Amino acid sequence: MKKITILGSTGSIGGQTLEVIDSLKNWQVKALTAYKNIELLEKQINKYQPEFVVVVDAEAAAELKSKLKAEKTEVLSGKESLKIAASENVDLVLNAIVGFAGLEPSIAAAKEANDIALANKESLVSGGSILTDLVKENDIKLLPVDSEHNAIFQLLKGHEKELDEILLTASGGPFFAYSKKELAEVSVEDALNHPNWEMGSKITIDSASLMNKGLEVIEAHWLFGTKYDDIKVLVHPQSIIHSMIRLVDGTVLAEMGSADMRMPIQYCLTYPERITSLGEKLELDQIAALEFFQADTEKFPNLKYAYTAGKAGGTYPAVLNAANEVAVYSFLKGEIPFLAMSRVVASVLDQHQNILDPNLDGILNSDREARRLALEVIKEWF
Ligand code: NAD
Ligand code: MG
Repeated sequence: MKKITILGSTGSIGGQTLEVIDSLKNWQVKALTAYKNIELLEKQINKYQPEFVVVVDAEAAAELKSKLKAEKTEVLSGKESLKIAASENVDLVLNAIVGFAGLEPSIAAAKEANDIALANKESLVSGGSILTDLVKENDIKLLPVDSEHNAIFQLLKGHEKELDEILLTASGGPFFAYSKKELAEVSVEDALNHPNWEMGSKITIDSASLMNKGLEVIEAHWLFGTKYDDIKVLVHPQSIIHSMIRLVDGTVLAEMGSADMRMPIQYCLTYPERITSLGEKLELDQIAALEFFQADTEKFPNLKYAYTAGKAGGTYPAVLNAANEVAVYSFLKGEIPFLAMSRVVASVLDQHQNILDPNLDGILNSDREARRLALEVIKEWF
């Protein structure tokens, strides 16, 4: 049996990872973590009997502890305990936490030389240089769960030295065809209604605003060491092609499959092998057409901001991410309109003084300051 720790096991990716584990049967769960959904976590504890769990929220942790008296599973609480979960020796740490909260656990896993399957793209966006340096230093695997990056990772095998450019596909989200005027009026409910994927609320909003693709451009830069000018975004509404690579001779390779995150998750768990998966078989004759469009960065400026922040480097990507997180949660609470999210991001980026080559403290400080500025801007405007 191999041992796995799943950070963020109560989320969309966390739950699908457990489904994959059920079907593979050769993984034993060492630890699970959640923010505060103890109802679901308790079910997972009963089924997988992990050695310990982390519940970040102290109140929820105390409640779970009182319920679990008779069980073998230990309950830790607080965000510092996430680092303990990530650093205990296992065969794989799968990081499915949402947001910047995933960065320190990713670093803790890498420091202790645990292989990582990364869904938490915000780790690489905010701390890409620190995390990738540790991965190299400790000679560990950093396997991408994100479907596009998992596709590129598969495609690059044997072609690492022949890459011309990455063609990162984007579904375009629910508002791809909307006018700017229509975009100004979309509701939270509209934005949460993604055409192709069932995901957590933060990434669903990011997909609607194209910030998700912006974050993924930065994620690709760090995962594959590719220059920003060699990473192109292509809107492909059917989400059948999960990404493509163009090789130096002009050949374009594409990875296709049904839109099912259990496939990239499984590839991380069986890598470098492949076995039968839970993913639905792709029947191309059932799909009328595969379409491709340029992304409209006038309508969706987040993509432009992500390239700018990524190219500037230093603490800019962390600031882009932090301002976006504040804006997304503010939109989800109904405090600001859809189009205000990218205005908040732009304003916070404008006010930021870049720090090149930041250490972790530099990144943590920039994140904190960007959140403060984003809240200030929102308060001033709305
Ligand atoms: P989700 O909201 O469904 O789940 C998030 C998980 O993180 C939950 O277990 C939650 O308890 C935990 N969490 C939330 N805030 C936390 C905090 N402050 N500290 C510690 N834990 C916290 O999110 P998701 O859709 O599963 O996405 C998880 C990550 O995977 C994100 O980075 C997302 O961008 C990425 N991702 C998701 C999908 C998808 O299909 N859902 C696809 C590609 C990439
Ligand atoms: Mg993706």
